[in-house]
Amino acid sequence: MSKMTKTIIKLTVRDVRFPTSLEQHGSDAMHTDPDYSVAYVVIETDQGMQGYGLTFTVGRGTEIVVCAVEALSALVVGKSLEEIVSDFRGFYRLLTSDGQMRWIGPEKGVIQLATAAVLNAVWDLWARSEGKPLWKLLVEMDPRKLISCIDFRYITDALTEEEALDILVKAQTGKQQRVDQMLKEGYPAYTTSCAWLGYSDQLLKQLCTDALNDGWTKFKVKVGADLKDDIRRCSLIRQMIGPHNTLMIDANQRWDVGEAITWVTRLAEYKPLWIEEPTSPDDILGHAAISKALAPLGIGVATGEQCHNRVMFKQFLQASALQFVQIDSCRLGSVNENLAVLLMAHKFKVPVCPHAGGVGLCELVQHLILFDYISVSASLDNRMCEFVDHLHQHFRSPVVIQNAHYMPPKDPGYSCEMLESSVQTHQYPQGQVWKKLQ
Ligand SMILES: [Mg+2]
Repeated sequence: MSKMTKTIIKLTVRDVRFPTSLEQHGSDAMHTDPDYSVAYVVIETDQGMQGYGLTFTVGRGTEIVVCAVEALSALVVGKSLEEIVSDFRGFYRLLTSDGQMRWIGPEKGVIQLATAAVLNAVWDLWARSEGKPLWKLLVEMDPRKLISCIDFRYITDALTEEEALDILVKAQTGKQQRVDQMLKEGYPAYTTSCAWLGYSDQLLKQLCTDALNDGWTKFKVKVGADLKDDIRRCSLIRQMIGPHNTLMIDANQRWDVGEAITWVTRLAEYKPLWIEEPTSPDDILGHAAISKALAPLGIGVATGEQCHNRVMFKQFLQASALQFVQIDSCRLGSVNENLAVLLMAHKFKVPVCPHAGGVGLCELVQHLILFDYISVSASLDNRMCEFVDHLHQHFRSPVVIQNAHYMPPKDPGYSCEMLESSVQTHQYPQGQVWKKLQ
């Protein structure tokens, strides 16, 4: 265990932004000009080892997340990795329940994004120190140890520690076959790259043709700004992909509840599998009403990329307010809180289809969904992980997609490490890329 006694002696955080708004990549009904960004964290140990972590943002405001990470750093620096992982639940709570900083959360908003960045770096360090990719660290971890990483406070009315343990123990059966299957075939993915809201019809057609040629069978379209445009775009893409491929639509919180129902009903003939984020991400009862109204049309509700903690997910599940759980590796409190949500989703029999894209979200969340399949759900029914083909070239271990599947990462860690040259040129506002734009 001597390799575990590394003490964290330093934490640095940087504001790294990509000018994606220039070409409308990532544009949707509510985020019309996103500059994909991260608060990028590096922790260093006294033995010279490093852990990398990040949280995703869309431009302005990243400096506030950076500030929150700096506020949390005093709770991390000076701790040894062994100390942290021997009581990870306690350490999670130390960060999320600090007697003073708790007031600016708790467990939501900027402070939770910062918690995710810091803890993602700690998980990266842990996986590296074990010489395993994170998914493998999780899959091979003793179920009791895994459970000890989760803070069950506020969710025991939906899932107890004993129930969670029971789920993990049951899923030990057939685990090795699923590992082998994933290594061979990968985890199914869908693409959001073809139909950002700001793209022209011609670009949409071209990207869709390319994606079909590359073997993609599941496509997501941004909707919600203008009904006539949505009808035209959905009809176009349905024609392109044919009746048997899968279509999903995403409104990014644009509508009120009644409006969501009317609007999506108008798009029902294009047979979307789900409507994503139809309304405010905090409106659990609103999502329940939309779910109920759209169920006869065979359209489910998906949400989660801005669902800020396990308590919210618990209520969405209890209220039957979603039919697809979209975890996010950087919105929830890192792996710890995502484990809680994966286990709750399994208990409520709701499939998990992670949110990804942005900067690094694909790199990170693939580890979590591999763990979900191998060690929790043991099912691929109605399950797939989002993929967006942007900015992967800035990562040391970028995602590998083969035939529209995520191939399991092999390098040790949580795939968070960015190329130092990319970080420096994109650092805001002093990096070369930004200097040129000023
Ligand atoms: Mg979305």
